[in-house]
Amino acid sequence: MSAPTVQLSIVIPVYNEELNLPTLFARLYPVLDALGRSYEIIFTNDGSHDRSMALLAAQHAARPDVTRVIDFNSNYGQHMAIMAAFERVRGDIIVTLDADLQNPPEEIPKLLEKIDAGHDYVGGFRLNRQDSFFRTYASKLINFAREKMTSIEMTDQGCMLRAYRRPIIEAIVRSGAINTFIPALAYSFSGNPAEVGVKHEERHAGVSNYSLYMLIRLNFDLITGFSLAPLQIFTMFAMLCAAGSFALVLILAYLRLFRHDDTNGVFTLFGILFFLISVTMVGIGLIGEYIGRTYQVVRARQRYHVREVLEAKGS
Ligand code: UDP
Ligand code: MG
Repeated sequence: MSAPTVQLSIVIPVYNEELNLPTLFARLYPVLDALGRSYEIIFTNDGSHDRSMALLAAQHAARPDVTRVIDFNSNYGQHMAIMAAFERVRGDIIVTLDADLQNPPEEIPKLLEKIDAGHDYVGGFRLNRQDSFFRTYASKLINFAREKMTSIEMTDQGCMLRAYRRPIIEAIVRSGAINTFIPALAYSFSGNPAEVGVKHEERHAGVSNYSLYMLIRLNFDLITGFSLAPLQIFTMFAMLCAAGSFALVLILAYLRLFRHDDTNGVFTLFGILFFLISVTMVGIGLIGEYIGRTYQVVRARQRYHVREVLEAKGS
């Protein structure tokens, strides 16, 4: 990455947001224009199937000096979309934002204040979260698990309204991470993180792009990407089970040899067997997670493919 040429880069991933983009443009640009800082906005179109790309191209034509658009050939997910923008940012401060207006653009100055105060990473946490009951409580649970298993302290890992100093972004880009969770990765590179409460609004239009499956995947990436705790907990658990079953074998052998009592023996064995098999299966799955990650890194395949970049030349 070369030296920064603007003060502020805003990074926004876009996936099927045609209903939100016009409002986003109408609210975001005035906020940034009023800051009195030089800025750029980088949108990544993450393989949208709707008119998002056309809207982005029109916006680029309207504000070519400050608007850049990266067009993916297909859907690689929110974090890869952000990563592609990170690789191209020209700002000294970088802010990530969702396109659906759940994080109001009007809150950006709050983050910048903290950055100006000397923090290199400022995370937002959502005040009055406006998501479904299920999402809100599932997040609380996941936050708790993350806190216990990794050394990442973060009030609200799901809030994407965040600001970073350029060195953090450079470190993220250099790490070449795959399947990653950007807020956590940034946290691990930060020397002086801070948090601020930001307003949270209901999704302006459309529905969340995250299914339950994707949320589970994302959190698996988070935990396996930042700690070996699952593997270690599993090993401890397996050792306990092994000790327990060994004791059971001794008891069964004693009953059989000295008490000649072998009623229900078959069922007991089945019970133990099923239990042990399930433990083994969980273990194999866990090991698979880590091997999968290793495989992806070793394979070093292109993480995403950019079809086109719309930007003013040399700006
Ligand atoms: N997004 C993306 N690619 C995806 C899914 C989502 O670029 O595969 C973008 C989406 O357009 C939005 C942000 O990521 O700007 C957050 O997505 P969403 O609002 O669906 O997630 P939620 O707020 O429900 O966590
Ligand atoms: Mg959202």
